Amino acid sequence: MKGEERAPLPIVPPPFPDERLTSWLERIADVYLVSLDGLQAHVGWVRPALELELEPVQADMVRIAQATGCSLNRLLAMTFHGLPPRYRSLLRPEAREICLVCSRGMQRPQRLRSWSFAFSFWCECHRQPLGNRDIRGASTLADSWTARRGAQILNAWAMGKDSAVVPVASVLSLLLSLARKASPAAPWELARLPPSCQRQRSFQTKHFRRTVLTSVVPEFEVAVPIYDQRLPLDISKISIAPRAERYALAIGVARVLKDPGSAIARILEFSDEQGREKIRTLIDLWPAPICSAVRLHRTCNSKRGRDDRKNDRVQIYRPT
Ligand SMILES: [Zn+2]
Repeated sequence: MKGEERAPLPIVPPPFPDERLTSWLERIADVYLVSLDGLQAHVGWVRPALELELEPVQADMVRIAQATGCSLNRLLAMTFHGLPPRYRSLLRPEAREICLVCSRGMQRPQRLRSWSFAFSFWCECHRQPLGNRDIRGASTLADSWTARRGAQILNAWAMGKDSAVVPVASVLSLLLSLARKASPAAPWELARLPPSCQRQRSFQTKHFRRTVLTSVVPEFEVAVPIYDQRLPLDISKISIAPRAERYALAIGVARVLKDPGSAIARILEFSDEQGREKIRTLIDLWPAPICSAVRLHRTCNSKRGRDDRKNDRVQIYRPT
């Protein structure tokens, strides 16, 4: 029998506010003790539910609406349809994060749309960290207040409401750029490898990227060993990065924007000459008031009696 000929499902649990379509359909399938594929075969929609979340197909959505008694508008609100392109590009459709408080007593925890954003780490309702199997580096990357601030900034930016003093895209580019030439792991970095791996030539000779992020969020290097860091080359790939990398970036964004002057000074001191040149090029595009703040920071450093060489390294803007 085809889906359109079937009677509506007799029992349909109501969707939670902001619940994802896949999450709700999985909970409906549980009621009938079938898999999501089994429910799809019974109702008769064609595209996989995960795809419908990103690109709803009218015929499939109508079929689900008929089977569940849910309006088409409510169904669309469970998808990522209509969200700004930048926000959509930073989605993690496969995300399975849950809130243990939201889902207390539930056989299958619900998953919300907002938790699929690359920089979502908390349930905003209960202010609880989202449960995630990926706990790599979580205990060391603990500056939750700063990470929350960074996540808010990144969310606003993705939704087209960037009001930060420096464009968020520019800060992300800065954090992901190379501060130093790629280099082999230092002995203390190799020491974190199991003894059997430490002697492997591949680990001893491989050159690792040294990003600006490490100077702004030094605890990231402690949380995630250099040989295991998986930072993307640019922000467009951040959705596939592990949680620790995304969390560290959120911290980094908040720290840079809180005090751009001192953050830049610290970054330049950390960088080699090639890295400094790149960073200066990026910062040259920043708003004039920030440039002034950086210059002021340099002046303060001079007054503290730093030697001439160090002052040159902190200087960002060439005389005009
Ligand atoms: Zn919650």
